[in-house]
Amino acid sequence: MTAEVLVIGAGPAGLCAAAAAREAGAEVRLLDAADATGGQYWRDLPVSRSDGSESSLHHDWAHYVRLRDSLESDPGVRVDLGAHVWALGRDDRGIRVDVVHGQADGTERATERIRTRSLVLATGAYDRALPIPGWTLPGVFTAGAAQALAKGERVAVGKRVIVAGAGPFLLPVSQALGQTGARVVAVVEAGRPGHLARAWLRRPSELLAARGKAAELGGYVWDMLRRRVPYRAGHGVVEIHGRHEVEAVTIARLDARWRPIAGTERRFDCDAVCLGHGFTPRLELAIAAGCRLDERRFVEVDDAQLTTVPGVYAAGELTGIGGADLAQAEGRIAGWAAAGGALDADPLAPARRARSRMRGFAARIEDAHGIGADWPRWLRDDTVVCRCEEVDRATLRRVAAGTDASGLRSLKLTTRAGLGACQGRVCGRTVEQLLAAHLTTPGGTRSEVVGTDRRPVAAPLRLGELARYGEPSATPSCSAPQKEQP
Ligand SMILES: Cc1cc2nc3c(=O)[nH]c(=O)nc-3n(C[C@H](O)[C@H](O)[C@H](O)COP(=O)(O)OP(=O)(O)OC[C@H]3O[C@@H](n4cnc5c(N)ncnc54)[C@H](O)[C@@H]3O)c2cc1C
Repeated sequence: MTAEVLVIGAGPAGLCAAAAAREAGAEVRLLDAADATGGQYWRDLPVSRSDGSESSLHHDWAHYVRLRDSLESDPGVRVDLGAHVWALGRDDRGIRVDVVHGQADGTERATERIRTRSLVLATGAYDRALPIPGWTLPGVFTAGAAQALAKGERVAVGKRVIVAGAGPFLLPVSQALGQTGARVVAVVEAGRPGHLARAWLRRPSELLAARGKAAELGGYVWDMLRRRVPYRAGHGVVEIHGRHEVEAVTIARLDARWRPIAGTERRFDCDAVCLGHGFTPRLELAIAAGCRLDERRFVEVDDAQLTTVPGVYAAGELTGIGGADLAQAEGRIAGWAAAGGALDADPLAPARRARSRMRGFAARIEDAHGIGADWPRWLRDDTVVCRCEEVDRATLRRVAAGTDASGLRSLKLTTRAGLGACQGRVCGRTVEQLLAAHLTTPGGTRSEVVGTDRRPVAAPLRLGELARYGEPSATPSCSAPQKEQP
């Protein structure tokens, strides 16, 4: 079928893009792989256990419910959940989007091709955890997974939990753990206190302009004080201990480049560790569309959130990590522009103001909490880097040196790092950083790095579905309205 404006991703950015495109007069189709709207930020409790208490662990829950309900009840909007966009391309008929409906292990699956001339990509980000000796033990979670379990299931990942990494996201995770019954033993932030103070307190007028966000942060700090959760800035978890599961961690002071300082180690007992070292944009579809990335490897957009590809807009964490408010502002602008709305139109003014305010806030997060170059100093030779294929640090180093590998591709093919079930979504950027020391080709880093984000098959697909791709006579495995066969 064709869609006037097609939005991929129903998180804060995609929901706002769909609403704005509708306001600007377009018919809209909104797709998301998840079984509920809201993305990573707003998570409904499962229908079987819904008790109306979602607002207690969420910001702006009422606003989300209004947004969701207005889209779902609008006959000009079609919302498809469980819709996995697995491929994207362009030809003379416009943009071609291949979707598979239904879960990879479910019985009801249908394939569909959608065509559009106006696409908004709002696919968000993955959360990133750096490898640490012991991080493969049961009881280690990414901070995002812990947050998702707390918000979406009311489950705490442990009884005594250490939250470690870098960035303000550690604070809501600590709060959500506290609210679901865990005791947070400490929040361990790698940024050093002086550096954090300089980054956060400079240009206070900018901070004041984003006062909603500053108040939210203040709320988290208050929650930590109330629950007496220690905040150890300038420290990192450098080892996780346990025989069969997490029993304790060692934390150490880090220098400005995140190198552990010998003699500062301390051990803390715990039964779970949540690691969060920032976010990596979910770029597969943007790369498949041919969108240019900027030097920080986010999707490059102009004032209208238009990418370098005509008809393709991008919003939210894809264009930079700035949180849900920025994602919503960018989504509104992208959806409005994708529907042909004028950028200087009055209804768009608040979103444009919010975007410029929140972009300053996002830059501050990166300055304060960006990953330090010397974090690999806490790795040991036997530390697993690629968890899916169980490739350790020594193997990566040996192969890179032994084969004089100047590129990521040869390292991946030889070691299988990044070729497992997650296709490098967890370890890709880490493998790149570890390889960077061995790269000999001038400019090699830049051309190679895109390789870890390029995944032509963007979502799990059955072999039979892939085999049928391109066969005009292929029949989908269940009927769905208005399908065009690939
Ligand atoms: C695990 C995790 C938990 C987080 N929790 C919080 C939190 O509690 N508080 C907070 O302030 N920030 C949180 N964040 C950061 C948060 O993602 C952003 O601030 C905000 O949600 C960004 O909005 P977005 O619309 O850009 O992306 P998202 O909210 O991530 O939405 C992107 C949507 O795109 C969909 N999608 C992606 N690829 C495809 C595809 N191929 N086909 C179909 N659909 C697709 C995803 O299913 C998702 O619903 C979290 C991030 C992660 C990764």
